[in-house]
Parts: sequence; structure tokens; C-alpha cells
Amino acid sequence: MGEYFKNIYTGLQSFIAGLQLSLHHYHSRKKLVATLQYPHEKWPVEERHIGFDLQEYNVVRSRLHVDINDCIGCNQCVRACPVDCITIESVKPPKGSEFDPGTTSNGTQKRMLVARFDIDLTECMFCNLCTYPCPEDCIYMVGGPNSAKHQIEYEYSKRDRKDLIFRFANPSEEEIIAAGGADYLAKKKGLPPPEKPAAEPKAKPKTAEPKINYEPVNAITDRMTRSLAKKAYTAAVRAGKTASETAVAVKQALEEAGKYSSDLDTVMESIGKAELMTQAGPAPEKKVVEQPAGGLDIKLLNDLTDRMTRGIAKKAFMAATREGQDAKAVVRSIQTALEAADKFTDEVKAVLAKLESPGEAPVKPAAAPKTAAPALNIKVLNGISDKMTRGLAKKTFMAAQRAGKSPADIVTEVKETLEDAGKLTPEFAKIIDSLREDA
Ligand code: SF4
Ligand code: SF4
Repeated sequence: MGEYFKNIYTGLQSFIAGLQLSLHHYHSRKKLVATLQYPHEKWPVEERHIGFDLQEYNVVRSRLHVDINDCIGCNQCVRACPVDCITIESVKPPKGSEFDPGTTSNGTQKRMLVARFDIDLTECMFCNLCTYPCPEDCIYMVGGPNSAKHQIEYEYSKRDRKDLIFRFANPSEEEIIAAGGADYLAKKKGLPPPEKPAAEPKAKPKTAEPKINYEPVNAITDRMTRSLAKKAYTAAVRAGKTASETAVAVKQALEEAGKYSSDLDTVMESIGKAELMTQAGPAPEKKVVEQPAGGLDIKLLNDLTDRMTRGIAKKAFMAATREGQDAKAVVRSIQTALEAADKFTDEVKAVLAKLESPGEAPVKPAAAPKTAAPALNIKVLNGISDKMTRGLAKKTFMAAQRAGKSPADIVTEVKETLEDAGKLTPEFAKIIDSLREDA
């Protein structure tokens, strides 16, 4: 009997002890230690400190992002992807189209409209291979060295698998049609391609169809402003507005885009007085003869030693010449393009001065060393029996010569390069030394 009451007592005692413990935990609970209502609530992610700055990371394997406004639709990333998880579709405006796809932040003129740019992140293996060949650096992994462009995303889980296909391009139907993509749109919708007013437009320009006269708008030097102005100009002319009404429309469009400045007053004046349509019969031939921009010689740009600078300058030259700009405007366009690329140096200034007034003798910074270098005969390097070593030696030779180095420096540089590559043998060193003897 005593045992019976003892058990009841022990049971009650342990029940009260348990209750006390629960009450103790209940009263001393901390906030946010209970279940987190994920995905509505998330823990803050701690900053990682691994001893160096985010910018110094070589690469982070995070989520891919595309700055679509900078994408030129070159498909290099698609070709690089080993699992084919990038899909790009672009629309190329037909020849003679007024559609301007715009420029990238690097100043590259886009040639097409990227209508679709999808990355299927359910298939992506985050190898980062697609980012390397991109000429505009517009596809990249977020965070790390790219955190200034796009903050890292630690998590981008979705309820539906389809939402993991990231769609970066989203042009409107109007834009696609304006770029000449009516067929593309019809195909997307599974419709037959729209009927084209076939041969008619081709035949007409050959005879005497009046054309829109873009001469007054072409006087605008800034490419972006010009493109906006052209759009408004075309719309106004097509709507049958008078010259002064067209000038008002163009001015208004530029003001709305924040691109209007008092420098453009003269352009607006000339639009207000211009013949909006030209009688394009025999006229176009005349234009072709007049367009070589005051007889500017593109070959003068070969004096620019930096390859990238030379490329940008030539591209700007060609674009400006094609638009029929005069000599001064061409030089200004080149200067603007190089300034935008941070490549406007004293050397460029000298070359542009020479381009603008070819009669005057320019200051040629690298003239003196150039006379010394050609004294060496590159054929001497043919004595190097190993193909790879010979190639490397010749490449270094050419680069040093192009940089206007002295013969002694060229020889030293070739030797050093081979040594660094572990390819310099006493036999090869002798051949390289004989460069000077031969000279
Ligand atoms: S990270 Fe690799 S797998 Fe993913 S899209 Fe780029 S190339 Fe393809
Ligand atoms: S490589 Fe760069 S520019 Fe070319 S399509 Fe891909 S993202 Fe666009």
C-alpha cells in the first residue's frame, strides 16, 4: 500500500518538474529562435570576411546576369556554353532601315535588336565559360568582382521550375516590327509570314521616289542625340508636318529625353527651313562623290600605335563618313569615340590634327626609333629550328619593332621572352644575337 502512494507521489513530482522546466524555457525564450516562416522570413546573411576585398575575387560562381542594353547579339556566349542553356534570337534591320538599335555603354554601335535572351538556370552548371568571350562584358556572374554592377544573390529559389529560365530581353512588339522583325513575330505566334508589298518598293527608288532629307539632322554630332532626333524627324515628316512643325517636334523629343542643349538651336533652325523631302532621282550619285569627308585619308589613322585606339578611331571614321559628315565633324566624331573609351591621348591629338589638315607636317612622336628598328632582318630568326620558339621569337620581334625599340632592345626582349617561356637554348641565343651582326 505504501508503495502505491509512493508511486503516485513520484509521478506528481516528475510532472511538476517537467512543467517547471517548460515554463522556465517559455519565459526565457529569445526572439527569432523559433521556426522561421520561410520563404516569407529569412535569416540575414552575414558578410564574409576572407581576408581580401570583394573586388579582388577572381571569379564567383553565382547567378548569371546579362546587361541586355549592352548585348550586341554576337552569340559568342552561346557558342561557349557547353550545355546549350543560353538561347538568343535577334532581329537584324534590313538594309536602308531607319531603325537604330542604339549603342552599348562601351560605345559599340549595335547592329541588331536582341529579341530573346534566355538562360535556363536549371541546366546551367555555373562554369562561367560564357562570360569570357563576351566582347561587351555584359554577361557575368553577379557579386564578387562584379558586385558594383550587380549585388550577389545568395538564393533565387522559385516555386515553379519554369521561373528559373531567366529572360533578359523584353522588347515590345512595336520595337521588333520597327526593326524589321514582322516575320519573326509571326513565326513566334505560329502565324504565316505577313504579306510584303513585294517588288514595289524596290522598283520605286530606282525611278524618282522622293526621299526624306536627313541632311539637317545629320549635323547633330552626338550619336545618341542624332538617333533620337532622326526618329522624331522621320515620324513628323511621315505625318505630313511642315518644316517648322517638324523642328518643334524634334526639339520636343530631345527635350523630353534630356538631350537638348542650346548648341542644337542652329540645327533646329536649319530643320525649320529645310526641304523635308529630296527628289532622289540622279541625286544619290552626287552624294557618293561628295561623301569622302573632305578627302580625309583613313590610312593616316595607321599612325596610332595602340591597336584598340586605332580600331575605335577607324570605326568612328567609317561611321561618320558613311553619314556624309564633313572633315571637321568626322574628326570630332573620332575624338568623341576615343574620349568615351578613355583613349584620347597626345598621340591621338597629333594624328587627328594631321587628319584634319594633311598638308601640315604633324609631330610624330615615334619617328626617331622607327628608323633604327628596321635595320634588323627578321628572317634571321628562321634559323630557330623549333616552330613554337620561332613563332614566339618573331612575335616578340614584331611587337618590339612596332613599339619603335632600338635593335639592342629588340634583341634583349626576344631573348628575355624565350627565357621566360623556358625556350632559350644557347643555340637559339646565338641566332638571336646574330640579328645585330646581320644588320
Ligand atoms: S555558366 Fe557555363 S553552363 Fe552556365 S550558361 Fe555559362 S557557359 Fe553555360
Ligand atoms: S557574348 Fe555578350 S554581347 Fe555577345 S551575345 Fe553573349 S552577352 Fe551578348
